[in-house]
Amino acid sequence: MPVKVVESREGEIFDIELEESLLRKNEELAQRNRRLLESRGVTAIDVMGSIGSGKTTLIKQIVRRLKDRYSIAVIAGDLTTTIDADRIREEGVQVVQVNTGKECHLDANLVGRSLEEIDLDKVDLLFIENVGNLICPGEFPLGAHKRVVVISVTEGPYMVVKHPYIFMDAVAVAINKIDLAEPMGVDISKLEMDARRIKPSIKVVRTNGLTGDGVDDLIDAMGV
Ligand code: MG
Repeated sequence: MPVKVVESREGEIFDIELEESLLRKNEELAQRNRRLLESRGVTAIDVMGSIGSGKTTLIKQIVRRLKDRYSIAVIAGDLTTTIDADRIREEGVQVVQVNTGKECHLDANLVGRSLEEIDLDKVDLLFIENVGNLICPGEFPLGAHKRVVVISVTEGPYMVVKHPYIFMDAVAVAINKIDLAEPMGVDISKLEMDARRIKPSIKVVRTNGLTGDGVDDLIDAMGV
């Protein structure tokens, strides 16, 4: 017998009117952020992924490789701590921490306020580390030019098929911690296939944030 499935209907979980006006307002603010970034010649990349997928570690590796070529700033989103911002600051770039409290994603308003804290005239490239979550950030564009998803093999073999929406707007996905694929029993090529099935044009790269393996490929995939 097949498993019985109860699906939520549209508008059943959220008050749909409230949600629509919220998303519309976010979209307006995202466009404002984009205009501001473009007026200062800044390219922004929104980095999304679960807690523990390795977003901060990969951003550090990317910053280390690009900081002589570009002037870089980072906005680090988190619920309550400054752990990520402190780690990235070790690379000697401008970092702003955004704490969202209970919110599971950054929004365009918070990013707009963070942009006020950055000397944008001195920045070419901005990385925005979103809050560790695979669901909420997808619906909230921030004004970034590109979105990248970091996933880790430690999240198991089904994490891509279970979170399709986060990949839709992304230009690239990093499959991180590839050294742990075997002990985790995860087939990396299956994860790659799953991502391409959701979005055929997405660039998929294999990375190990600790050793830096694949980080150059990720930089290429981001097109910076
Ligand atoms: Mg982090």
